[in-house]
Amino acid sequence: MEIKASKIFLGVTKLTSNTAVQGNLGWLSCHAKQRLEVLRFFYKLENRRSWNFNVIKLFRNMSVEHLMQPGISKELFFKVIKSKLRILDEQLWFTKLWNDNSNVNGNKLRLYRRYKKDLQPEHYVTNAIPRHLRSNLCKFRCGTLPLSVETGRYTKPPIPLEERICPFCNNAVEDEIHFLINCDIYSDSRFNLFHRAKLSPLDH
Ligand SMILES: [Zn+2]
Repeated sequence: MEIKASKIFLGVTKLTSNTAVQGNLGWLSCHAKQRLEVLRFFYKLENRRSWNFNVIKLFRNMSVEHLMQPGISKELFFKVIKSKLRILDEQLWFTKLWNDNSNVNGNKLRLYRRYKKDLQPEHYVTNAIPRHLRSNLCKFRCGTLPLSVETGRYTKPPIPLEERICPFCNNAVEDEIHFLINCDIYSDSRFNLFHRAKLSPLDH
């Protein structure tokens, strides 16, 4: 393929000697390039300052040095590695969930983190439900429904949290709990919802 492309580049016919074409371009042959790649990889494996060293560091950072011993089965190796990666991911995720450094009122996941404790997929995500319902449920859980508590963040200047009052009842901050449990304007819908969920609105 490379020779064919070279002949097109040089403007000669396919009958031209491959050896001559190689001589004209002074290129290494495909075979030589392949050998070079194999040896390059060997060098990386042997060179502690690069790939090999970084992999050893990774084993150490993950506290799984014991997996570097020879004789460990493939199943056990990947089982431990996957489990460890999940634990590390979950720790990082949990730290982000509770990180309030960028907002005086706490991050917008204040509600979400009250009930979400692990990095497991939600039932509503794994079960087939209509797309618009999944979207609304996700917005509710992630704190991005257009309630005053959310829209007040984006006015200029932002409205203080305690002043992001419900425009319907003027009784309280319009946050997700107010929307779901307390606001009178949704009483009828809420009655139906709690009835279908076989809960009393007073059970919360
Ligand atoms: Zn209200």
